[in-house]
Amino acid sequence: MVDRAAVPSDVVDALATAKRVLLLAHLYPDGDVLGSQLGLGLALRTTGRPVTFACHHPVPEAFHFLPGAAEVQQWKEGTGGHDLVVTLDTPDPGRVGGLLEGCRRPGTRVLNLDHHGDNRRYGDVNWIDPQAAATGEMVYGVLEATGLPLTPDVAVNLYTAVVTDTGSFRYSNTTPKTLRIAARLVEAGADPAAIAQALYETRHLAGLQLLGRLLQEVQTNAVGTVAWMVIDRAHAASPDLLEAEDFITYPRSLRTVKVAVLFRELARQEGATPRPPEPPQVKVSLRAKGEVDVARLAASLGGGGHPNAAGVVIPGTLDEVRRRVLDAVEAAVAAR
Ligand code: AMP
Ligand code: MN
Ligand code: MN
Repeated sequence: MVDRAAVPSDVVDALATAKRVLLLAHLYPDGDVLGSQLGLGLALRTTGRPVTFACHHPVPEAFHFLPGAAEVQQWKEGTGGHDLVVTLDTPDPGRVGGLLEGCRRPGTRVLNLDHHGDNRRYGDVNWIDPQAAATGEMVYGVLEATGLPLTPDVAVNLYTAVVTDTGSFRYSNTTPKTLRIAARLVEAGADPAAIAQALYETRHLAGLQLLGRLLQEVQTNAVGTVAWMVIDRAHAASPDLLEAEDFITYPRSLRTVKVAVLFRELARQEGATPRPPEPPQVKVSLRAKGEVDVARLAASLGGGGHPNAAGVVIPGTLDEVRRRVLDAVEAAVAAR
């Protein structure tokens, strides 16, 4: 038992009484949201209840190894027919790309499970734990509190959630509780070496060579406190190559860097709300090392996230967005 007391009783009740459950992942799904969604869903399914998984965007190739990944349906709008809709790792309803609206019917309850401090508490039942390193850590607590089984398939999903959101247990969100939970997940059948290999050692040669080119083009400000990488639409034409790699870890890894930024020009079909004629959009990822609060910075630009990992999608050309964001980053670093 790691920490059963932490799970609110209305969360346990919502899951205990649900009959048909829909689990939603946020846009550009990552290891935490997919592992949490599939981990909770597969555990619920062992009780014989119908469970559906959906996301606005496809599951990146790097996560196809997750048990249940092939079942995640790509939806452009939500539908009814579920008495419980669970959103995971999703601080505001816009982050599921509008799927929630179509799912909200009379008699449908929304359960919002998340670890973002800026969560808008848009659910009928909300459990927000910013101390949790990953939403997957919270789902582990839910399984303990509800008695849902921790099967090997569930363990693989939850371990992946935790290992990806902690940067393989390197980031400051890693706590003793995180490691205790990870140990339980390994005991339950998650194989750390196999999961690390599936996540980080399944590159295509073209992906490695793309990384080489992008690394050549990393830039920094004069004093080296801000570093950035740019992925234009030509590179972005192969989204599987891009999703497989956590590119921003490289500018972040520079000794003098306080804030790292990744600019990725979105392919036409990728935008959350495509409108004709479609304006260009850039996905901006921000990472810090504890000195600058990039969640605040991202919020000032219309996005959000955690103090050390945040993001935002901004309309505009690469040049426009880069200039605007780097100005804001420089101001935030200077204000320290
Ligand atoms: P990413 O840079 O996409 O890996 O995202 C890092 C973190 O920033 C995520 O865990 C989210 O919490 C947050 N985030 C990313 N993109 C957005 C966005 N468009 N709006 C709000 N939060 C975001
Ligand atoms: Mn996420
Ligand atoms: Mn997360």
